[in-house]
Amino acid sequence: TAGVTSNSNGTSIIRRKITSLVGFSNLPAQYHRKSLRKGFDFNVMVVGESGLGKSTLISTLFDMPLTPPRTPASSAAAIARTVAVRSISSELEEDGVKLRLTVVDTPGFGDQVNNDDAWRPIVGNIEQRFDAYLEGENMNNRTKVSDTRIHACLYFIAPTGHSLKAIDIEVMKKLHHKVNLIPVIAKSDILTDDEIVTFKARIRADLEYHKIAIFETPRYEIDSNETMEEKTSIMSKIPFAVVGATAEVINAEGRKVRGRKYPWGVVEVDNEDHCDFLKLRAMLVKNYMEELKEHTDEILYENYRAQKLVAMGFSQDQSVFKEISPSTKLEQDRIQQNARLQKMETEMKMVFQQKVSEKEQKLRRSEDELFARHREMKQQLEKDRRELESKLALLEQERYAYTEEKNVKKKGFSLRS
Ligand code: GDP
Repeated sequence: TAGVTSNSNGTSIIRRKITSLVGFSNLPAQYHRKSLRKGFDFNVMVVGESGLGKSTLISTLFDMPLTPPRTPASSAAAIARTVAVRSISSELEEDGVKLRLTVVDTPGFGDQVNNDDAWRPIVGNIEQRFDAYLEGENMNNRTKVSDTRIHACLYFIAPTGHSLKAIDIEVMKKLHHKVNLIPVIAKSDILTDDEIVTFKARIRADLEYHKIAIFETPRYEIDSNETMEEKTSIMSKIPFAVVGATAEVINAEGRKVRGRKYPWGVVEVDNEDHCDFLKLRAMLVKNYMEELKEHTDEILYENYRAQKLVAMGFSQDQSVFKEISPSTKLEQDRIQQNARLQKMETEMKMVFQQKVSEKEQKLRRSEDELFARHREMKQQLEKDRRELESKLALLEQERYAYTEEKNVKKKGFSLRS
């Protein structure tokens, strides 16, 4: 079956379902193979006061012990009571799929008496990563640019049960245009179900009031297995009330589960009735990791890049700027350079050909001259030869006449004698 439609450019597109095997149906498999070989990068930042369970949650999410070494920098930060930024990278493998995970932690955040500038090192780190990527993109060998940009930021809200603190609002306001913000209520097991419901409602109201944008699941369908209902149910849980625990405990039914054991029972991490951990994992890892990366690349990074260019003084024609990405700019530069080189080459060829034909003409001229001279000399020689021959003939005649005369004289003398 075939049909013809037109796209926005007015070009006709033939739509045809091919029944024989052409081979491009294997493209997803090729992509899959390439992805397995290359692996994936994912960089997540955790922001929140110390002791809110950031390291524990990351370890729970990626099922690995995240051992943040107490580096001299971080202990110094604790003493100096300033916010430090440190990153820990790990290579994980699940069913043959490799993930290079980088966790960026912000020890010291919110711990100071005056937290006015707490956002600075965090935003600074996010921007540094954008700058590094921008620089990498502008270099000649762009294939080796590693993506160190922050793809998601988990913002840990203390389980106070009241509302957001001033520092939370201020920091989230500084962050939301630069990262995919995912707010979580830390250690939610210390709140009752009712407290969580009211706390979440207040937080959502605060976020809305302050126009803080949080990452949203895409509105379009990514694959047919996921329903709109699932997406809505993930979004309805924001801010995710999470519980972190890496240890396994025995629950009421006697099963081994990841959770926290209390005298009154067990809080299970992987149980939707106990906390929103699974929903957070669905958003961050299982279903939307690629979306987080795509949103970082296409929206957050592009906005940053455009603003940076404007700040650098490229503001004359912003409409043009928005549309030209660094890669397009480089491509255009390369095309221009190629055109220049081609022009130079053509000019050089023309000059060369001109010189060659001039030389050839000169040679031909001197060849003609040589021939002419040769002909002239030949003619002269011929003339000389003819003259000499006629002279010789004359001399021959004279000699004959003389001999004749002599003979006659001799005869006359002998007759007389
Ligand atoms: P960080 O400083 O934010 O990285 O916090 P840690 O992950 O080091 O956790 C600090 C303390 O909180 C540890 O004793 C953890 O066992 C505990 N903790 C971590 N997650 C939770 C949680 O979800 N609920 C409770 N009640 N405690 C937690």
